Amino acid sequence: MVIPVSSWGRLNAAPHAVLPIDALGSQRPLSFTLPLPEPGQTVLPYGMGRSYGDVCLNPDGALWLTAGADHWLAFDADSGLLTCQAGTLLADIQRLMAPRGWMLPVTPGTQFVTVGGAIANDVHGKNHHRAGSFGHHVQALTLQRTDGRTITCGPDQHAEWFAATVGGLGLTGLITQATLPLRRVASPWLDTETIAFDALERFYALAAESEADWEYTVSWIDCLDPRGRGVFIRANHGAAGASVPTQRPRSSGLNMPFTPPLSLVNKISLRAFNTLYYHAHRLRQGRRISHYLPFFYPLDGIAHWNRMYGPRGFYQYQCVVPFDGGEQAIAALLERIAQSGQGSFLAVLKTFGHQASPGLLSFAQPGITLALDFPNQGDKTLRLFEQMDAIVGQAGGRLYPAKDARMPAGLFQSGYPQWAQMQPYRDPGISSAMSRRLMGQ
Ligand SMILES: Cc1cc2nc3c(=O)[nH]c(=O)nc-3n(C[C@H](O)[C@H](O)[C@H](O)COP(=O)(O)OP(=O)(O)OC[C@H]3O[C@@H](n4cnc5c(N)ncnc54)[C@H](O)[C@@H]3O)c2cc1C
Repeated sequence: MVIPVSSWGRLNAAPHAVLPIDALGSQRPLSFTLPLPEPGQTVLPYGMGRSYGDVCLNPDGALWLTAGADHWLAFDADSGLLTCQAGTLLADIQRLMAPRGWMLPVTPGTQFVTVGGAIANDVHGKNHHRAGSFGHHVQALTLQRTDGRTITCGPDQHAEWFAATVGGLGLTGLITQATLPLRRVASPWLDTETIAFDALERFYALAAESEADWEYTVSWIDCLDPRGRGVFIRANHGAAGASVPTQRPRSSGLNMPFTPPLSLVNKISLRAFNTLYYHAHRLRQGRRISHYLPFFYPLDGIAHWNRMYGPRGFYQYQCVVPFDGGEQAIAALLERIAQSGQGSFLAVLKTFGHQASPGLLSFAQPGITLALDFPNQGDKTLRLFEQMDAIVGQAGGRLYPAKDARMPAGLFQSGYPQWAQMQPYRDPGISSAMSRRLMGQ
């Protein structure tokens, strides 16, 4: 079946032949035959399409839809070790296991992501400074190649395949299953603290001061304010025996039911939202107990929020710049964005920790990361990105493929010097719009 498929940024719906993969059988070891594309056509694994740009798209080719392959294969209640099929949703792991005292060791800002997608983009969470990225926790994974070969790898087994596949953008084969440890938690509630700041220097001081004692840190900044006012949020899992509410929070029920004819994000709505958000949080500063759902996944509370950008969709720009010279680079980026009047709600600023990345193409590296959305205003937006690319490139930084739809090949190759080392591990039957744009095939 050929249908139009797009990713979270809704920039580029293009026809794809979709090949659903079912539960891949439940016998051990798993054995199955993959649906193959038409002769001459390439294929690409597709999880939930929660990537913003073209890393999960293969226009005019085929997609393996993996979300149906979501069986849990084993769970060790002593060690927390879970083995599951790669289409398993992080949301299901959290929902079923958090009330039993287990949670994922790393989770991105949406729970509607598959385990395979989390590995292929080597996603990070608010605890990168303590726990590293998702791939740091994967103990083993199984790859199915288009030539029928199966490879099981991990940090200590075929480690070269593991390094190519973690953060490997789906290009080394289909990840069919993975083993990773869940972590013990006393409850699904977190002890959080919110602190408003009115300049970037204060953000850096708060980040440094919080690293030792707080597992999760993140901040929102107002991209229209070049001084960098914002809100810093830090949290730890609640202690055993701490008193917590007995009921989980009710779902907000909010939904963006249709795509408006024009983007609802413009200079006026942006200024109003940012001012309101900043002052609302300034007035609510301090400690409180938060359920993991609104803390980890605030945007999941509004279904289809990506429609608010209208029919032209939106870009996300996420970069990381090394600590050395990074503060100046972030200040320069924010100044450019503020001058342009573009940018959107909820620009996120965070410092990454010092762990070496597990994947050859993993995004997270020691430094400062900035992420923000931009309504697609065509050339005007692309020209701004070129100026931002120059700042990131000069600072020795890189952009995040999971969020990208347009970075030039030169910036990718300078930001990911190990990209050529990864090429021998690619599956020749697999290709994506992004791989063709950045790696030539
Ligand atoms: C609201 C929101 C917040 C986010 N917050 C964060 C964040 O805090 N941190 C972060 O790191 N990311 C974040 N992301 C990005 C998101 O976590 C990643 O893009 C994630 O990889 C999407 O997973 P997916 O299952 O939707 O995969 P897709 O987007 O469908 O695919 C992503 C990549 O994984 C590959 N892939 C998928 N399944 C498999 C498989 N079984 N085998 C091999 N390759 C596979 C695809 O080919 C593609 O290259 C956020 C996204 C949204 C929408």
